[in-house]
Amino acid sequence: MSDTYDVVIIGGGPGGYNCAIRAGQLGLKTAIVESRGALGGVCLNVGCIPSKALLHASELFEAAGSTFASMGILVDKPRLDLAAMMAQKTDAVNGLTKGVEFLMKKNKITYVKGRGRIAGAGRVEVTGEGGVQTLEAKNIVIATGSEPMGLPGVTIDEKRIVSSTGALALEKVPGKLVVIGGGVIGLELGSVWRRLGAEVTVVEYLDRITPTMDAEISTQFQKILKKQGFQFELSTKVVGVDAGKAKLAVALEPAAGGERRTIEADVVLVAIGRRPYTEGLGLETVGIMPDKRGFIANDHWKTSAPGVWVIGDVTTGPMLAHKAEEEGGNVAQLIAGQWGHMNPDIIPSVIYTKPEVASVGKTEEELKAAGIAYKVGKFPFLANSRARTNHETDGFVKILEDQATRRVVGAHMIGTGVGELIGEICVAMEFGASAEDIARTCHAHPTTSEAIREAAKGVDGWVMQA
Ligand code: FAD
Ligand code: NAD
Repeated sequence: MSDTYDVVIIGGGPGGYNCAIRAGQLGLKTAIVESRGALGGVCLNVGCIPSKALLHASELFEAAGSTFASMGILVDKPRLDLAAMMAQKTDAVNGLTKGVEFLMKKNKITYVKGRGRIAGAGRVEVTGEGGVQTLEAKNIVIATGSEPMGLPGVTIDEKRIVSSTGALALEKVPGKLVVIGGGVIGLELGSVWRRLGAEVTVVEYLDRITPTMDAEISTQFQKILKKQGFQFELSTKVVGVDAGKAKLAVALEPAAGGERRTIEADVVLVAIGRRPYTEGLGLETVGIMPDKRGFIANDHWKTSAPGVWVIGDVTTGPMLAHKAEEEGGNVAQLIAGQWGHMNPDIIPSVIYTKPEVASVGKTEEELKAAGIAYKVGKFPFLANSRARTNHETDGFVKILEDQATRRVVGAHMIGTGVGELIGEICVAMEFGASAEDIARTCHAHPTTSEAIREAAKGVDGWVMQA
């Protein structure tokens, strides 16, 4: 016998579970299908949450051994209990994934454990422990997320040659970690293991790390990471990793071609990006063709197949949990006949290193390429009183304003806690604020948010530029 639902969601990550919750709240009969045995997707199980648990703990470990003394706090050399650090990470994951399961019950959503496959219009087949069941659906939402990209000549075993998933669960601190890819995952997880004692080398194909970020931020970021002990091999490609001996042999070549050399590693982390995940999803049964990079196209989250929607990493746009979450809520609203809106120009992104990097809107390079005249305001944390008292003076805030419209069109920051500060700019941008609007807003003293106000003043030349 089959059940009929208003909505069947395939995938229980931030996109899927937020879609389910909103659909449940709106009174839609909803089912969510998840194959990994726990809700929360990549983000809660092997992404955002475990990485942030390890970033926080490793940051405290490093501070105890370094900056504590500069503030007159004398502790014996901290010792690492890696198993305990991993256990608190697992606790954070379990607490949150169980919380999501509770929210499903609270909102009367049917949680179906198993692998979902679209089996024609309005039908989802789920293969689980109890066999195969068919769910009839007025609407199907594809929320199947993404998976790590592999590299030819590099076989991931999740022990010595790892993706982010293996890097979140190493049983001992590697002596030498080689990270392939100077993007978000490489730099966050590279930071974790460097703080815990690994020597970290990042191999990046392009000529700078975090290549899609504002270039001035990338340059400053790399300098700070270098000061912390990171080593970088830029404009370099990995052409293979030999796992035949006790040490891994990582073969490198200049990106443009040239002489090959080898460096040794105990662990290699492959972090060169992620790709949409649609394996065995039955897209062909409803005539959906992913693009050549594997993404399912959407128009306001509608796919080319009637009644089939798509959200999160598996569709276009940044691969971020809050973007997936936003889309999930919107699709539920649209299915219920209500508004569903997201401003693609105001999706913040944060790299949770120390210091953090936070960004929203256009970069200077994008504005130049589009021929848009803009003004810049900048302010360094070195001149911010709170940053100075906290011994956290690395970095700066940069605000970009469109000269014609006088709207803030981008903000890029590097500094401790900027991941929290970026929210202020997002709100300002949503309200169409000018830099002067931010500059005229009273900010509490002493806080690092004053650096935003000073950068905003800088746009109109109220202060000395950094
Ligand atoms: P996912 O979270 O990938 O969830 C999809 C779910 O669908 C999975 O659980 C999968 O098992 C399930 N599934 C797939 N196919 C089927 C099927 N056929 N049947 C049933 N179930 C299926 N983003 C941030 O915004 N902030 C961060 O700090 C951050 N940190 C990250 C750290 C790491 C190490 C990684 C890898 C990613 C991080 N991300 C972060 C990205 C974030 O995890 C993703 O953008 C987010 O999880 C995407 O959500 P989603 O719902 O689209 O898909
Ligand atoms: P990424 O796109 O951030 O970085 C990949 C890097 O690898 C790029 O700098 C790229 O130039 C480089 N690269 C590509 N091919 C290469 C090669 N063959 N050799 C050397 N370098 C190569 O990808 P990621 O770090 O794997 O992260 C994947 C996704 O997960 C991102 O889209 C990100 O949005 C998401 N994520 C977000 C957060 C966060 O929000 N804090 C944290 C982790 C992951």
